[in-house]
Amino acid sequence: MKNQFVRSSKNASVGLAVALSVGLALSACPVFALPASHFEAAIKQPPGTGNAEGLAYAKSEEYKKEFSTAVDDGKKACEKYLKEHPGDTNMAVVADIDETVFDNRPYFETTKEFDWDKFVVWVEQSKAPSLKPTADFLDWARKNGFAVFFVTGRPENLRAATIRNMVRNGIAYDGLYLRPNDDKRSAIEVKSAVRKQIEDMGFKIVVNIGDQVSDLVGGYSVDCEKLPNKIYFVE
Ligand SMILES: [Mg+2]
Repeated sequence: MKNQFVRSSKNASVGLAVALSVGLALSACPVFALPASHFEAAIKQPPGTGNAEGLAYAKSEEYKKEFSTAVDDGKKACEKYLKEHPGDTNMAVVADIDETVFDNRPYFETTKEFDWDKFVVWVEQSKAPSLKPTADFLDWARKNGFAVFFVTGRPENLRAATIRNMVRNGIAYDGLYLRPNDDKRSAIEVKSAVRKQIEDMGFKIVVNIGDQVSDLVGGYSVDCEKLPNKIYFVE
Protein backbone atom coordinates (compact mmCIF):
# COMPACT_ATOMS: atom_id res chain seq x y z
CA MET A 1 0.00 0.00 0.00
CA LYS A 2 1.36 3.31 -1.07
CA ASN A 3 0.93 6.09 1.36
CA GLN A 4 0.62 9.38 -0.40
CA PHE A 5 1.94 11.47 2.40
CA VAL A 6 5.23 9.62 2.57
CA ARG A 7 7.61 11.95 0.86
CA SER A 8 10.82 10.66 -0.58
CA SER A 9 13.80 10.87 1.64
CA LYS A 10 17.50 10.65 0.88
CA ASN A 11 17.79 8.58 3.98
CA ALA A 12 15.25 5.77 4.04
CA SER A 13 15.78 5.26 7.72
CA VAL A 14 14.09 8.57 8.32
CA GLY A 15 11.25 7.69 5.97
CA LEU A 16 8.67 7.54 8.72
CA ALA A 17 9.90 10.83 9.84
CA VAL A 18 8.94 12.20 6.59
CA ALA A 19 5.97 9.85 6.53
CA LEU A 20 4.26 10.82 9.72
CA SER A 21 5.70 14.19 8.42
CA VAL A 22 11.15 18.98 11.55
CA GLY A 23 14.01 18.44 13.07
CA LEU A 24 15.31 19.71 16.28
CA ALA A 25 18.10 22.20 16.34
CA LEU A 26 17.71 23.02 19.99
CA SER A 27 20.08 20.53 21.54
CA ALA A 28 21.14 23.10 24.08
CA CYS A 29 17.56 23.09 25.35
CA PRO A 30 16.36 19.49 25.76
CA VAL A 31 13.30 20.36 27.84
CA PHE A 32 10.47 22.23 26.22
CA ALA A 33 8.01 23.78 28.58
CA LEU A 34 7.68 26.57 26.11
CA PRO A 35 5.09 28.25 23.93
CA ALA A 36 4.78 26.90 20.39
CA SER A 37 6.29 30.06 18.89
CA HIS A 38 9.61 28.99 20.38
CA PHE A 39 9.83 26.10 17.93
CA GLU A 40 9.14 27.97 14.72
CA ALA A 41 12.81 28.12 13.69
CA ALA A 42 13.63 24.50 14.52
CA ILE A 43 12.86 22.84 11.22
CA LYS A 44 16.06 21.04 10.42
CA GLN A 45 16.80 17.36 10.73
CA PRO A 46 19.15 16.85 13.63
CA PRO A 47 22.37 14.88 13.17
CA GLY A 48 22.42 11.36 14.57
CA THR A 49 18.86 10.47 13.57
CA GLY A 50 18.16 6.94 12.36
CA ASN A 51 17.07 3.49 13.44
CA ALA A 52 20.32 2.35 15.05
CA GLU A 53 21.14 5.69 16.64
CA GLY A 54 17.59 6.20 17.85
CA LEU A 55 17.18 2.73 19.30
CA ALA A 56 20.49 3.04 21.14
CA TYR A 57 19.56 6.48 22.46
CA ALA A 58 16.18 5.20 23.64
CA LYS A 59 18.00 2.79 25.96
CA SER A 60 20.01 5.57 27.59
CA GLU A 61 19.43 7.22 30.92
CA GLU A 62 19.51 10.55 29.10
CA TYR A 63 16.49 9.54 27.02
CA LYS A 64 14.55 8.38 30.06
CA LYS A 65 15.34 11.60 31.91
CA GLU A 66 14.47 13.77 28.91
CA PHE A 67 11.21 11.89 28.45
CA SER A 68 10.08 11.98 32.07
CA THR A 69 11.09 15.62 32.51
CA ALA A 70 8.96 16.68 29.54
CA VAL A 71 5.98 14.72 30.83
CA ASP A 72 6.44 16.09 34.37
CA ASP A 73 6.61 19.62 32.94
CA GLY A 74 3.34 19.00 31.10
CA LYS A 75 1.69 17.95 34.33
CA LYS A 76 3.09 21.02 36.10
CA ALA A 77 1.69 23.24 33.35
CA CYS A 78 -1.74 21.66 33.86
CA GLU A 79 -1.52 22.12 37.62
CA LYS A 80 -0.52 25.77 37.18
CA TYR A 81 -3.41 26.34 34.81
CA LEU A 82 -5.87 24.70 37.21
CA LYS A 83 -4.64 26.93 40.02
CA GLU A 84 -4.88 30.08 37.91
CA HIS A 85 -8.27 29.19 36.37
CA PRO A 86 -10.37 27.66 39.14
CA GLY A 87 -13.69 26.33 37.88
CA ASP A 88 -12.70 26.18 34.22
CA THR A 89 -14.42 23.35 32.38
CA ASN A 90 -13.03 23.78 28.87
CA MET A 91 -9.45 22.58 29.34
CA ALA A 92 -7.79 20.12 26.99
CA VAL A 93 -4.54 18.28 26.44
CA VAL A 94 -3.44 17.38 22.91
CA ALA A 95 -1.09 14.47 22.37
CA ASP A 96 0.57 12.90 19.37
CA ILE A 97 0.47 9.08 19.23
CA ASP A 98 3.59 7.44 17.74
CA GLU A 99 6.62 7.67 20.03
CA THR A 100 4.50 9.86 22.29
CA VAL A 101 2.04 7.39 23.81
CA PHE A 102 2.67 4.31 21.62
CA ASP A 103 6.11 2.76 21.49
CA ASN A 104 6.95 1.42 18.02
CA ARG A 105 10.41 0.17 18.94
CA PRO A 106 9.31 -3.48 18.51
CA TYR A 107 8.84 -2.62 14.81
CA PHE A 108 12.00 -0.53 14.43
CA GLU A 109 14.06 -3.30 16.01
CA THR A 110 13.10 -5.57 13.10
CA THR A 111 14.45 -3.32 10.36
CA LYS A 112 17.45 -1.22 9.38
CA GLU A 113 15.42 1.04 7.18
CA PHE A 114 11.91 2.34 7.52
CA ASP A 115 9.38 0.68 5.23
CA TRP A 116 5.87 2.12 5.20
CA ASP A 117 4.12 -1.11 4.14
CA LYS A 118 5.78 -3.08 6.92
CA PHE A 119 5.01 -0.31 9.39
CA VAL A 120 1.34 -0.55 8.41
CA VAL A 121 1.41 -4.30 9.06
CA TRP A 122 2.80 -3.55 12.52
CA VAL A 123 0.20 -0.84 13.22
CA GLU A 124 -2.63 -3.12 12.10
CA GLN A 125 -1.62 -5.63 14.76
CA SER A 126 -2.62 -2.98 17.34
CA LYS A 127 0.01 -4.22 19.76
CA ALA A 128 2.26 -1.24 20.34
CA PRO A 129 3.02 -0.97 24.05
CA SER A 130 2.28 2.27 25.83
CA LEU A 131 4.93 4.74 26.82
CA LYS A 132 3.93 4.70 30.47
CA PRO A 133 4.90 8.23 31.56
CA THR A 134 2.72 9.76 28.84
CA ALA A 135 -0.14 7.29 29.35
CA ASP A 136 -0.12 8.02 33.08
CA PHE A 137 -0.04 11.79 32.46
CA LEU A 138 -3.01 11.63 30.09
CA ASP A 139 -4.93 9.48 32.57
CA TRP A 140 -4.17 12.00 35.32
CA ALA A 141 -5.17 14.92 33.10
CA ARG A 142 -8.49 13.34 32.20
CA LYS A 143 -9.25 12.60 35.86
CA ASN A 144 -8.51 16.24 36.63
CA GLY A 145 -10.92 17.71 34.12
CA PHE A 146 -8.88 17.93 30.94
CA ALA A 147 -10.30 16.53 27.72
CA VAL A 148 -7.68 14.44 25.91
CA PHE A 149 -7.41 14.72 22.14
CA PHE A 150 -5.04 12.64 20.05
CA VAL A 151 -3.76 14.32 16.90
CA THR A 152 -1.74 11.93 14.75
CA GLY A 153 -0.09 11.77 11.36
CA ARG A 154 -1.44 8.23 10.94
CA PRO A 155 -3.90 8.19 8.05
CA GLU A 156 -7.62 7.62 8.49
CA ASN A 157 -7.36 4.08 7.14
CA LEU A 158 -5.50 3.16 10.34
CA ARG A 159 -8.25 4.50 12.62
CA ALA A 160 -9.72 1.14 13.64
CA ALA A 161 -6.30 -0.38 14.31
CA THR A 162 -5.38 2.69 16.35
CA ILE A 163 -8.57 2.52 18.40
CA ARG A 164 -8.04 -1.20 19.03
CA ASN A 165 -4.55 -0.44 20.32
CA MET A 166 -5.92 2.30 22.60
CA VAL A 167 -8.59 -0.04 23.98
CA ARG A 168 -6.09 -2.85 24.47
CA ASN A 169 -3.78 -0.48 26.37
CA GLY A 170 -6.63 1.01 28.44
CA ILE A 171 -6.09 4.54 27.18
CA ALA A 172 -9.15 6.77 27.43
CA TYR A 173 -9.58 9.85 25.26
CA ASP A 174 -12.16 12.27 23.98
CA GLY A 175 -11.21 12.74 20.36
CA LEU A 176 -8.98 11.07 17.80
CA TYR A 177 -7.87 13.08 14.76
CA LEU A 178 -6.06 11.28 11.95
CA ARG A 179 -4.70 12.65 8.70
CA PRO A 180 -7.20 12.38 5.83
CA ASN A 181 -6.06 9.60 3.47
CA ASP A 182 -5.32 11.85 0.51
CA ASP A 183 -4.00 14.80 2.46
CA LYS A 184 -0.53 15.94 1.39
CA ARG A 185 -0.16 18.96 3.62
CA SER A 186 2.78 19.16 6.02
CA ALA A 187 2.36 17.78 9.53
CA ILE A 188 2.51 21.32 10.86
CA GLU A 189 -0.38 22.42 8.65
CA VAL A 190 -2.53 19.39 9.40
CA LYS A 191 -1.92 19.34 13.13
CA SER A 192 -2.22 23.08 13.78
CA ALA A 193 -5.50 23.14 11.81
CA VAL A 194 -6.87 20.38 14.04
CA ARG A 195 -5.81 22.25 17.17
CA LYS A 196 -7.63 25.32 15.85
CA GLN A 197 -10.69 23.14 15.28
CA ILE A 198 -10.49 21.90 18.88
CA GLU A 199 -10.20 25.45 20.22
CA ASP A 200 -13.05 26.56 17.93
CA MET A 201 -15.20 23.92 19.66
CA GLY A 202 -14.61 25.88 22.86
CA PHE A 203 -11.66 24.06 24.38
CA LYS A 204 -8.51 25.70 25.66
CA ILE A 205 -5.48 23.53 24.85
CA VAL A 206 -3.27 23.82 27.91
CA VAL A 207 -0.60 21.30 26.94
CA ASN A 208 0.41 19.91 23.54
CA ILE A 209 2.85 16.99 23.78
CA GLY A 210 4.68 15.17 21.01
CA ASP A 211 8.00 13.67 19.94
CA GLN A 212 8.41 15.91 16.87
CA VAL A 213 8.79 19.67 16.60
CA SER A 214 6.18 19.45 13.85
CA ASP A 215 3.71 18.26 16.50
CA LEU A 216 4.22 21.52 18.36
CA VAL A 217 4.64 24.46 16.00
CA GLY A 218 1.74 26.44 14.62
CA GLY A 219 0.14 27.72 17.78
CA TYR A 220 -2.99 26.74 19.68
CA SER A 221 -1.51 25.59 22.97
CA VAL A 222 -0.44 27.37 26.13
CA ASP A 223 2.44 24.96 26.77
CA CYS A 224 4.36 22.55 24.52
CA GLU A 225 6.32 19.50 25.59
CA LYS A 226 8.88 17.91 23.26
CA LEU A 227 9.64 14.26 23.92
CA PRO A 228 12.92 12.74 22.72
CA ASN A 229 13.02 10.66 19.50
CA LYS A 230 16.19 10.09 17.49
CA ILE A 231 14.83 7.16 15.47
CA TYR A 232 13.16 9.39 12.90
CA PHE A 233 12.11 12.91 12.28
CA VAL A 234 8.95 14.27 10.73
CA GLU A 235 8.77 17.48 8.83
MG1 LIG B 1 5.09 10.98 17.00
